[in-house]
Amino acid sequence: MEMELLVATHNEHKKEEIQQILGSDCTVKSLTDYNIHEEIVEDGDSFHANALIKAKYCFEKTGIPSLGDDSGLVVESLDGRPGIFSARYAGDHDFAKNIEKVLEEMQGIENRKAYFVTVLCYYDENGAQYFEGRVHGNLLTENKGFKGFGYDPIFVPEGYDRTFAEMDPEDKNKISHRKQALDLFMDFLKVTD
Ligand code: IMP
Repeated sequence: MEMELLVATHNEHKKEEIQQILGSDCTVKSLTDYNIHEEIVEDGDSFHANALIKAKYCFEKTGIPSLGDDSGLVVESLDGRPGIFSARYAGDHDFAKNIEKVLEEMQGIENRKAYFVTVLCYYDENGAQYFEGRVHGNLLTENKGFKGFGYDPIFVPEGYDRTFAEMDPEDKNKISHRKQALDLFMDFLKVTD
């Protein structure tokens, strides 16, 4: 199916990643491509709500089928924190500080279970559709590895003995929460072809 998809991001890297996964049947555009420069206020109280806010905003502004996403780290023993606050848990996109805060809060806690989640919201004239991906794992007590971003240096996915920050991006991207959500979205696009 040939279509244009507006992804609710200013981040060209995110746009390219989604373009690569979706392939050439779909032309992926970013907010910058549509000259939309304002920040979308993400004030929802869940991953779903934030993904919806972004996708709906873009669709209403342009009439182009739009994709919003929200991701984060959910830690079992911290009652789900940092959750929707993952990007700014201690400092806005300050990955080192955010990790430090999580590790501090988990000091002495044995249950290290956590998962990354991505919720995608696709919005078009028929309304909203959601796609969710999760990758489960355990948190270390200190950083290991230098690749990736965010909480990657403390997250060891289930079935592996390395953190996301020690894995090559291709290997992480095969199992990541983002990849799983995008796979579901692709299946949906094929079905609605
Ligand atoms: P976003 O919704 O994709 O911008 O993700 C929000 C925040 O969640 C990021 O700033 C990171 O702190 C965290 N996060 C999301 N995905 C990942 C990942 O794959 N690795 C590490 N941290 C992530």
